[in-house]
Amino acid sequence: MAESEDVDLQSEQYEKHREAGDILAQVREETADRVEVGASHLEVAEYAEDRIRELGGQPAFPVNISIDEEAAHATPSIDDDSTFGEEMINLDIGVHVDGWLADTAITVDLSGNPELAEASEQALEAALEIVEPGVETGDIGAEIEDVINGYGYNPVVNLTGHGLDHWEQHTSPNIPNRAVSQGTTLEVGDVVAIEPFATDGGGKVTEGASEEIFALEREGTVRNRQAREALGQITEEFRTLPFATRWLDTDRAEMALRRLKRNNIVHGYPVLQEDDGFLVSQKEHTLIVTENGCEVTTEY
Ligand code: MN
Ligand code: MN
Repeated sequence: MAESEDVDLQSEQYEKHREAGDILAQVREETADRVEVGASHLEVAEYAEDRIRELGGQPAFPVNISIDEEAAHATPSIDDDSTFGEEMINLDIGVHVDGWLADTAITVDLSGNPELAEASEQALEAALEIVEPGVETGDIGAEIEDVINGYGYNPVVNLTGHGLDHWEQHTSPNIPNRAVSQGTTLEVGDVVAIEPFATDGGGKVTEGASEEIFALEREGTVRNRQAREALGQITEEFRTLPFATRWLDTDRAEMALRRLKRNNIVHGYPVLQEDDGFLVSQKEHTLIVTENGCEVTTEY
């Protein structure tokens, strides 16, 4: 990042990051309030995504609704009829305003394990406390690991926080969820998401069989009408940001997407999960590094 005197934190791009964050703070709270036993996954996801648009943003990726052992990348399918049970639910939501992003997550615990949810929350609080120009990302990871271990749980070490760039949800630097020796330092003007995950499992997620979130991999052409229509919408509306099948306007959207995947024009994000029988919690905020510390964009 540039020298601090070159960074104007009032410039248009930072204002758009803040606008995205304001929308997201409100939508996260309203959406979390709708998660209860018997509520529909699809209705909750669509509520959040519609609300983002009403408030003047665009969803930066499909609302992630990850249940119990699932840590990330689950979202309702086009005709999903599942409902919430007595489970641990991670809601991960993103907004962009003209491609400038905010990313946030919260755990709603209906499983009777409030301390596991609290471990991620407190780890994030502790991490935010030490963010300032020059802080090492490895030290942020150490803070997260310490807090989560203090609750008797493990951090998920192969999921990390990340930088956010224009139309790019995941850029450098990685913000680890454990102590690492080779990190980097944060500088004034960096926009990053910090996202601790805590689990009663081993702390390493693997790819599951289900895949409901996709993104453009490369430019390409296809002959099939529906696949062509879908590709047009993807390149214009989502660009390289992730999307769900239910966002596609074409008829036979699932078939269109299978074709785009087979041609390696689109790639999927498999659900990332702990082993069966374990639970994962998550808490995430987006922040701007300032001269004196940081400004969290995704809270009021
Ligand atoms: Mn997120
Ligand atoms: Mn994130």
